[in-house]
Amino acid sequence: MARRKKVYEGKAKILYEGPEPGTLIQYFKDDAAQSEQAPNQGTDGKGLEGKGVLNNRLSEFFMAGLNAIGVPTHFMRRLNMREQLVRMAEILPVDVVVRNFAAGEISQRLGIPEGTALPRPIVEYYYKDEKLGSPMVAEEHIVAFGWANQQDLDDMVALALRVNDFLSGVMLGVGVRLMDFRIEVGRIWEGDYMRLIVADEISPDNCRLWDLRGLETPDREGQVREPGPLNDVYTELARRLGVLPSNVTHTTKPTLIN
Ligand code: ADP
Ligand code: MG
Repeated sequence: MARRKKVYEGKAKILYEGPEPGTLIQYFKDDAAQSEQAPNQGTDGKGLEGKGVLNNRLSEFFMAGLNAIGVPTHFMRRLNMREQLVRMAEILPVDVVVRNFAAGEISQRLGIPEGTALPRPIVEYYYKDEKLGSPMVAEEHIVAFGWANQQDLDDMVALALRVNDFLSGVMLGVGVRLMDFRIEVGRIWEGDYMRLIVADEISPDNCRLWDLRGLETPDREGQVREPGPLNDVYTELARRLGVLPSNVTHTTKPTLIN
């Protein structure tokens, strides 16, 4: 078999040249993402065994769902346990974050207690430069420095809010609250037309998820549980969504779910 050409190796994935021009193969590794928008794991930075397999399935599930409701993503098809075929895109240098409930950075910066419902979804941009600590930037910076134009920004917000509605609903259906998430957006060309699509991955590495199950029913001591982070988030989310491959059991120690 001819060796494939590696295009890029990041922390969580390897990109290979795809079979056709304009395509890429995304290989999901087990390395735990270390970012402020990957708040679910509580790992020591070591890889979680099986995480890549689960993120491949989870990202497929969300992106295929988005494609099916007309929200464009780079996802074409899953190839095997760790790989999926995607459309190559020109990634914009800003990540988009959407927040539904306060947690993490917004709670710290603005002193809003974690778990507070926000009056409306709040969209933020973060400049993709890890050496600078991926700083938050305003539309002003993005347009002034030519990272994207005003039309791109309007399209990005519309895209991110559609992703938010879809993801929030899907998560709620399995007893999970989508607190906030981060997406990468890419540019693709179809003839003379350019459009923006959701790229990279949608997985627990870029979603902050709180467990809502067991909140309604008081436990034996009569305590009603407070919402909090989902335990063993990769396995549990994949299990609840019905995409857990049979040969993957737990990415971390088994935990009891109510
Ligand atoms: P990083 O460590 O830089 O976050 P990852 O391990 O997540 O990298 O690898 C994914 C890389 O591939 C990222 O740099 C991301 O911007 C890029 N990428 C994701 N989807 C696409 C796509 N459809 N086309 C081109 N590049 C992509
Ligand atoms: Mg990444």
